[in-house]
Amino acid sequence: MTRPGPQGGDARIPVRQVAQKVDWQQAQADVITDPGELLALLRLDAADLPAALRAAADFPLRVPRAYAARMQAGDAHDPLLRQVLTSPEELAPTPGYDTDPLAEADHTPVPGILHKYHGRVLLVVTGACAVHCRYCFRRHFPYQSHLPTAARLDEALAWLAGHTDIEEVILSGGDPLSLSDRRLLDLLARLAAIPHLRRLRIHSRLPVVIPGRMTPTLVSALGDARWDSVLVLHANHAQELTASLAAEVRALQQQGVTVLNQAVLLRGVNDSLVAQEALSQALFRHGILPYYLHQLDRVAGAAHFSVPDDQARSLHQALRHRLPGYLVPRLVREVAGDLSKTPL
Ligand SMILES: *Cc1c(COP(=O)(O)O)cnc(C)c1O
Ligand code: SF4
Repeated sequence: MTRPGPQGGDARIPVRQVAQKVDWQQAQADVITDPGELLALLRLDAADLPAALRAAADFPLRVPRAYAARMQAGDAHDPLLRQVLTSPEELAPTPGYDTDPLAEADHTPVPGILHKYHGRVLLVVTGACAVHCRYCFRRHFPYQSHLPTAARLDEALAWLAGHTDIEEVILSGGDPLSLSDRRLLDLLARLAAIPHLRRLRIHSRLPVVIPGRMTPTLVSALGDARWDSVLVLHANHAQELTASLAAEVRALQQQGVTVLNQAVLLRGVNDSLVAQEALSQALFRHGILPYYLHQLDRVAGAAHFSVPDDQARSLHQALRHRLPGYLVPRLVREVAGDLSKTPL
């Protein structure tokens, strides 16, 4: 059967509807939250479903459909699936794994601001994420007491205005790019009015998991000459990167925005030389430079992702022997009380 093309005389298929791209906000709302649905979509055995459901009760499963589409059906060990599927391993008690492994509560001068390092602060602008990563060190973060109500945001911005030693604001969360462009532009305008802020940084996984997030409005806001802007993406595996992301990164670069990546070293996802080399190569092809490779934070429920330090070091050394220096991320861990990320 032939169907009329976009220029066809038959008007039964509205051309605009056919051509319309899925809006990123729609993609962010229409996510998979039921472990059973994800397993069925990938044609996987549901034997672990009861435990997966129990693990989801604490920190729900949340997977954008575009991200699920990049998983290999039938592969229970798919590296993307492993990052997001709730698992019985999360429920095992693990001594030494804590709900606030970074003692972030000690570095909060006002709600929403995390100040640990010289000259730069994290500004927590939302608790929401497009995807829930099972290894996330913020899975127990008390977002409720940090959420940016209008009054709290006023207080955080007043704190920033009063601290002239802060040169760089890092929008964080949650995922800051889960906010609408309108809210982000409002926030950027208010930050831009604080004269001692010189650099704007955004830490986000959203453009990796939902294609189309870098809208032209947002790209030009980040390219604003008021700032030196940096976008630090979070991709852990080469299979996560898409042609859409490459195009969005190019658009950012044309506006002078620096685009970097941070990954987390995860057992069963990217703890091999092959996976790390492929990630660095793929990042570069997408216009992104590797920045950090983080050793997992010891957060309760994520112990099954951890890679021993010895193994992490030898993997990193092997990577240095394989790739040009600019494609080797810095292997670091966060140590509560240290004045920077700590090299391993
Ligand atoms: C990781 C982090 C930063 C950024 O560190 P860089 O080394 O500049 O990338 C800033 N503030 C806090 C609280 C952090 O955890
Ligand atoms: S996107 Fe980042 S903050 Fe959100 S769940 Fe994943 S790792 Fe955590």
